[in-house]
Amino acid sequence: MEKSHLIKPLLDKDYPVISYGDGIYLYDTSGKKYIDGSSGAITANLGHGVQEIIDSITNQAHKVSFVYRSQFTNEPAEQLAQKICELYGDGYWSFFVNSGSEATETAMKIAIQYWQERGLRGKNKILSRWMSYHGITIGALSMSGHPERRSRFVSILEDYPTISPPYCYRCPYGATYPGCNYLCANELEQAINRIGSSNIAAFIAEPIIGAAGGAIVPPDGYYQVIKEICVKYNILFIADEVMTGFGRTGKMFALEHWGTTADLVAIGKGMSAGYTPIAATLVSEKIIETIKNGSKSIMSGHTFSANPQSAAVALSVIHYLEKNNLVDTALVKGTYLKEKLIDLQLCYPIIGDIRGKGLMIGVEFVSDMITKFPFSKEINLTSLIISKAQQNGLLIYPASAGIEGIGGDAVLIAPPLTITNKQIDDLIQLFEQTLVDIGKDLQ
Ligand code: PLP
Repeated sequence: MEKSHLIKPLLDKDYPVISYGDGIYLYDTSGKKYIDGSSGAITANLGHGVQEIIDSITNQAHKVSFVYRSQFTNEPAEQLAQKICELYGDGYWSFFVNSGSEATETAMKIAIQYWQERGLRGKNKILSRWMSYHGITIGALSMSGHPERRSRFVSILEDYPTISPPYCYRCPYGATYPGCNYLCANELEQAINRIGSSNIAAFIAEPIIGAAGGAIVPPDGYYQVIKEICVKYNILFIADEVMTGFGRTGKMFALEHWGTTADLVAIGKGMSAGYTPIAATLVSEKIIETIKNGSKSIMSGHTFSANPQSAAVALSVIHYLEKNNLVDTALVKGTYLKEKLIDLQLCYPIIGDIRGKGLMIGVEFVSDMITKFPFSKEINLTSLIISKAQQNGLLIYPASAGIEGIGGDAVLIAPPLTITNKQIDDLIQLFEQTLVDIGKDLQ
């Protein structure tokens, strides 16, 4: 290829050029085949080249590809909002945007506007958890506890308070569940008392922590405690289901694992399974009613919001998930994948922890299984594993985990929900090969 002018994550690295995708596989222009073991960025949930999703794009493009939301509504966007309302629960409205960062930032703005409309203008801080990622734009990053992504911009980020994550493998209190009595969740109440609920609009959390923790699943009962505290202190609860939504964890939305919902929900990624950009903020009826009876307008929006082509794709993705029962089977396949990883752990002691739900599995690496001490930062183990896996024809996703200030290493394994057990075996074989190669490098 001639000199590139495309800005890629690393400016001095040569990236393989992808030629085409088929199911769980991607092929580059040299003919090399990869198992897409991370669905890209946990996005290509149906795999690549699904004909009926491709047809939904062309069918809609033949009708109309773009209309402006201040001038018109459109049928696919209306139908999609209706469908999401059926899936999430009665009464929820959809605000369509283009990325997960916009979805969480829109949730933040709506939360602040909601309290303004109720005459509580001081309620404008957003609480979140350390080890969380809600997006790369300034508002979304202000709510994120992801040191690496924040570090360059800390001086211009909002100073939003954070509480400890439900990281049972490395409990910040040195406690164990259930004896811990949800110390980490109860930190929310302490933070609210310190800051004053009259200054707080909302608390945001990923139901299962993705990129910033490597599929950290809270213990049962955690979200009940969180929600009780939010209700007690008049604080909205925002669920960031950008990574976990649309079947990834074996439920359509991950909070279903704990039988609960949120006041505002950010969704994205798997919503279009990567076929077009679309994301959304779901807004509960109580918030909509307040704004309807007040200013009547949510002060946000983007040129491409409620794009008919993207909405048609998202509808088609939901139809495909339902028709092929991919949400329920994600749970079964995830259990199979986890069992295979546990078998590997017996042979490769650098695997410290295996966690996650459905087909969102995190693997955390340690230099010592007993002390759980991570590898030194200089080794950059996560990057080594990711690039070695890619050389071996396996794509997995980097996640940060470990000890605050010291760091650690984790990856996400999250293949398309369409993967078969035989293909999981192939994925495991490539992952094991990668561990063998890494073992040699570390000697
Ligand atoms: N929220 C979560 C939980 C995410 O994992 C991500 C992206 O990885 C985002 C928000 C931001 O989404 P986007 O990259 O589409 O802006």
